Amino acid sequence: MFKRYNIYKIIIVYAYLITPIFCIEAQILPFPNSYSNYSDTLKIKNIVRISGHTPNNYIKNVLEQDIFKGIKVTYTASHGNISFQNDNLLPAEAYNIDINNKGIIIKSSSLNGYIYAIQSLRQIVIHSSPNTRSFQFTTIKDEPRCKYRSFMLDSGRQYQKIETIKKYIDLMSLLKMNYFHWHLTEGLGWRIEIKRYPKLTSIGSNVARGKEQQGYYSQAEVKELIIYAKERGITIIPEIDIPGHSEAALASYPSLGCTQDSIIIPENGFTDQLFCAGNDSTLFFLKNVFLEICNLFPSQYIHIGGDEAPKGKWNKCSLCQSKIQALGLKDSNQLQLWLMTQIAEYLKTQGKYAICWEDVIHHDFTKELPNNLIIHWWNWRGHKDEAFNKACTLGIPVICGTNYYTYLNFPDKPWKGYAQDRTSSVYDVYYRNESLPRLSHKNTLGMSCCLWTDYGLTEDLLDQRLFPKIFILANQMWSNSTITLNDFLTVLIKKKKFYSPLGYTYTINRYSKSDFNKSTTP
Ligand SMILES: [Zn+2]
Repeated sequence: MFKRYNIYKIIIVYAYLITPIFCIEAQILPFPNSYSNYSDTLKIKNIVRISGHTPNNYIKNVLEQDIFKGIKVTYTASHGNISFQNDNLLPAEAYNIDINNKGIIIKSSSLNGYIYAIQSLRQIVIHSSPNTRSFQFTTIKDEPRCKYRSFMLDSGRQYQKIETIKKYIDLMSLLKMNYFHWHLTEGLGWRIEIKRYPKLTSIGSNVARGKEQQGYYSQAEVKELIIYAKERGITIIPEIDIPGHSEAALASYPSLGCTQDSIIIPENGFTDQLFCAGNDSTLFFLKNVFLEICNLFPSQYIHIGGDEAPKGKWNKCSLCQSKIQALGLKDSNQLQLWLMTQIAEYLKTQGKYAICWEDVIHHDFTKELPNNLIIHWWNWRGHKDEAFNKACTLGIPVICGTNYYTYLNFPDKPWKGYAQDRTSSVYDVYYRNESLPRLSHKNTLGMSCCLWTDYGLTEDLLDQRLFPKIFILANQMWSNSTITLNDFLTVLIKKKKFYSPLGYTYTINRYSKSDFNKSTTP
C-alpha cells in the first residue's frame, strides 16, 4: 500500500507541474497550502461513525445536516470512519486531514483548526448516491498565511437584518476568515444599543431617510450573534467610530458637539460635526460607551475609528482650543490623537487593544503612543503606503486593508458616487493588491477587506459587490497559491454548484469578462 501511494504521488506532482488546474481539483477554497491526491476512493455507506471528541455543535451540525445528510451519524469512542485527534504540535489554526482506506483522520490543536478542516471536507465530499458518500484519498496539511483575516461590514450607513449578517458570517467561516469587523456607527445611524444612553438608538438609529437605514441591534441580539460567530471560528470586532462620522450620535446628544447648532445628517460622505474633544463630558460619555462595548464583546480588539474627521469646528471651538493650549498641543490634529490616546489607554485598562484607522498617525506628534494601538492601513488612493511605513517605523502593528484593492464596495464600473477612479477590476485585486508584498513584514498583523454601504448599497446588492472579489481576497489571506487568475476563475465557476444552494449568488462573466483571457501575470 505504501509503495502504491508513492507512485500515485509522483503522478499527481507531475500533473501539477504541467497543468496547475489539475492540482486544484480538490475544490477547496481557499486553496490548501500543502496536499496530495491519490486515485483511490473511500466510500462510506448507510452509516458513519464519528470518533474522538467532536469539537462543537456547529461541526456536528455540518456533519449531520450537510456532509452526511440522509445518512445515519453515530458517535463512538474509537475506530470511527471519521476521527478527530488533538495534535498539540500543530500551529494555532492549522489542521491536517488524512483520507485513506481506513477512514478520515482530522488533526488540529485548536477549535478553529477543526472548523477549517470540516469546511474543507464539505467541499470535497462526493455524493455518490443518496446513502453513500465518497472521498478521494487525500493528505492535506494546511495553515493560514495571515494570523488576522477579516471582513468588515458597514451596518452604520445601511442596517442589515441579523439573518443577513449570519449569512455572511457563514461565508467567512467557509473562507476561513477569523475576524468579523462590524462597523456599527456612522453619521447615518447609530446601530448598537447602549443601555446608559438610550437616545443613541431611540433617536440615532432613525436619523436617515432610507427604508433600510432604520434600526439597531439590541445587546441581546448582539450576544446571540457573538455566540453564532464563535461557533464558526469568528471573533466579532465592534467599531465605534470617533470623533467623526458621528452625526447620528450628536443628533441624539447635541451637547456633545462643539456647537449647539442642529445637526445635519449627511446623505453621503462626512462632515466636520465631530464629538467635541475640549468638553470633558465627551470623554466621560465615550468611556462609558466603550465600557459597555468592552463588557459586551469578548474580542481582544476594539476598533475606535479615527478616520475622516475634518477640524473646521474644532478650530473655532473655544473648548477645543482651550484644551489644545492646556495640553501644550500644536493644533487640532494633535488634539484628535490625544483623544484617541485617551480612549486607547482606557481600553488598555479593560485588557483590550485599540485599532485605529491610519488617519491618526498622518500628522506630526511628539508624545509616545499607547502600546496597545494597532493601525488599520486603508487610504491607498490618498496616501499610498505612507501610514504603513510610518507605523512600521514606530513599531506599531498594522492591518493591511487598502482601498481600491480590498474595498469590496468599489464596483467594476462607475456606479452612483463611484466615478471611474473609484472602480477596481478583478485583475487588479488579484495581481496588484498593495497589501500582498507587505504581508511578510514583521509588523503586519494580517489583512482585511471592507464592504462599505454608502450610496444606498442595500442588502439586495451585497452579493453583487462581494463576489467574486471576496474569494480572491480570502485566498490571499490564507493561501500561498500562485495560480493564474484564469485558473482561479475556472475554479470559481465550478464552485457555483457549491455556493448556490447555500443562498449565495454570483456571476463570474459579468464581473470579469475582460480579465478572463489574461492568463499570465503582469
Ligand atoms: Zn469643541
